[in-house]
Amino acid sequence: MILTDTMHEPAAIRQPADRNGQAVIHLESVHKTYYLGEVQVHALRGISLEIHEGEMVAVMGASGSGKSTLMNIVGCLDRPTKGSYQLAGVDVSNMTKVELARIRNSRIGFVFQQFNLLSRTSALENVELPTIYAGLPPEERHQRARRALEQVGLADRAHHHPSQLSGGQQQRVAIARALVNQPSILLADEPTGNLDSRTSVEVMDIFQRLNEEHGITVVLVTHEHDIASYAKRNLEFRDGKLRRDVLVRDRMMARDILPTMKSVGEEDEEEQARER
Ligand code: ADP
Ligand code: MG
Repeated sequence: MILTDTMHEPAAIRQPADRNGQAVIHLESVHKTYYLGEVQVHALRGISLEIHEGEMVAVMGASGSGKSTLMNIVGCLDRPTKGSYQLAGVDVSNMTKVELARIRNSRIGFVFQQFNLLSRTSALENVELPTIYAGLPPEERHQRARRALEQVGLADRAHHHPSQLSGGQQQRVAIARALVNQPSILLADEPTGNLDSRTSVEVMDIFQRLNEEHGITVVLVTHEHDIASYAKRNLEFRDGKLRRDVLVRDRMMARDILPTMKSVGEEDEEEQARER
């Protein structure tokens, strides 16, 4: 008999009680091994995890602990080496790349630390891009992209190029792009890693609103404890294993914190952006 890792989990691992209904994300004994020539890297070593609709989860852990590997699998950018992954009840662990791309485009929005915007393209066109892949007619594409920019408070920057925007504004464009196909899950890998404190909290404000007002399930990676405390649940990874799974007590709400933080001033930031 093979013992699963969950049988050896320390006491800190527990499934918080108040979850009903089907898990949107359900991993069962997921392993990921990278092969670099002779060398094998065990990035994930048996992860079992359920995330339900409407949760907001922060994933923490030291560099190299497997956070991005997890996000890539959850986001259908990569497949587990072993184990299963059910996304909204559908087993995606053995899907082809084309099938994965289709499911990703319709259900998942992804936000990265480096924004990953196309530099010679306006904010609006950047946001519109995923709707082209989704095959929507032009009129609806424009409408959706504008609405997504409104959702992140950037309607008035639609025709700016990334170099004309501050880091926080660029990340908001990237969030709008992640939202434009109306995903049910938003994944963000260190979304505040390149942002100052106030701008980070502004990004958390957007995530909290999307979570509360639109019911979008949010999973984000951060190594900052204060950012993690804006989530409802924290996971901690170490050496490819899930070591802690706790509900956040005294959760912070960005809308309460923002008025207490000093504003850098968007105009100053834009000034700096122009000088770059
Ligand atoms: P984290 O995001 O927590 O910093 P990662 O998931 O990026 O961790 O990496 C986990 C481990 O897997 C690390 O040892 C890393 O070097 C390795 N790794 C990640 N991606 C690859 C890859 N594409 N090829 C080989 N090794 C990788
Ligand atoms: Mg990472």
